[in-house]
Amino acid sequence: MPLVLVSNNSELLRHLAAPTFRRLELEQKVASSGDDAWAQFQAHKPIMAILDAEMAGITGSELAEKIKASAPATRVVLVIGKRLTGEQMRRVGACGCDEVLVAPMSADELYDVVAIQLGMPRRGAERYRIEILAEGKPLDANITNLSVDGVRIVSKVPVAEGAALAVRITPEDGSGAVDIPAKAVWTQAAASSSGGTKTVIGAEYPNLDDRAREVLARLTQWEVVHETQRIRIVLKGDFTEATRFDELADSMVGRVDFDLAQVRYMNSLGVRAWCEFLRAAPIQGYEFHACSVPFVLQASMVEDVVGRGTVTSFFAPYHCAKCDHQEERLLQSAALLASSLEPPVFQCPKCDGQLMFDDLPERYFAFLQRND
Ligand SMILES: [Zn+2]
Repeated sequence: MPLVLVSNNSELLRHLAAPTFRRLELEQKVASSGDDAWAQFQAHKPIMAILDAEMAGITGSELAEKIKASAPATRVVLVIGKRLTGEQMRRVGACGCDEVLVAPMSADELYDVVAIQLGMPRRGAERYRIEILAEGKPLDANITNLSVDGVRIVSKVPVAEGAALAVRITPEDGSGAVDIPAKAVWTQAAASSSGGTKTVIGAEYPNLDDRAREVLARLTQWEVVHETQRIRIVLKGDFTEATRFDELADSMVGRVDFDLAQVRYMNSLGVRAWCEFLRAAPIQGYEFHACSVPFVLQASMVEDVVGRGTVTSFFAPYHCAKCDHQEERLLQSAALLASSLEPPVFQCPKCDGQLMFDDLPERYFAFLQRND
């Protein structure tokens, strides 16, 4: 069971006891002070520490430095209050912590940070097993692209044009496998990197029934997660002229949280369809969580992409000039606003260099400036 060290902060402890956290199966050790946190860290070697930046004795920033020096793989999240000077923010950024959260926060914000830092599945990121069947038997093949319109396959054995195939999707939630009949509409032989030959296949679904369409849409476009108070809609893949948001409208009641971490690409027609969908959506209010870089880039150019909603967290491109490592980091809007849009600096996970924000702040953060 992953062990997490937490400051004795009633808000944190309340969130960590929420049902959404139970599936992460975290074991908690609660530290009453900075000194206690350091003692417990040494005794238990947790994989993660969620600490108040201001604590009696050793502060959270000092602890983050000590923890990172002693066990660099430990994920350290600091919790700060809303009132923070730019100088304090820089100090927090310079201490090597992996993430900064601004209190008060929602359980969802904390969940996103913990799940991402620990590399654990987030809600709506449920796994499926997908296989291709030919004549009822699994084909030795990989799927390179799956959509509601068709599937592209690379097979190690030859497949003829017109061959009857099936895409078997087995959700891990135990709801049962779905076989979707598919037909190879074109095939092409190609040399494989291992020296043999492979067959690239484009297949379509001749008869897509409602259940199959729903499973494919969940897999490739969105997933609706019903929680106690709010509805969480996880959007995935590409937003293009082919994306039909209207099928989502029935789910849009009450308050909605959109999770956009898996949105990979948005073209202008997709942006337009999305804005129209948001405008017409009969919902009270909505928030955007873990927005992907492509979504943020659109949101900073086109105001209507976030509509009446607010962005609570988003990914941003980061780069280490020393070793050229690149990665995307999840940032909290509240933390950025508290620091007057000065992006935090992180410790590079690959070398002793610094991971710096790698875009133009006035361009990338434009969507935040509009909110205030
Ligand atoms: Zn580096």
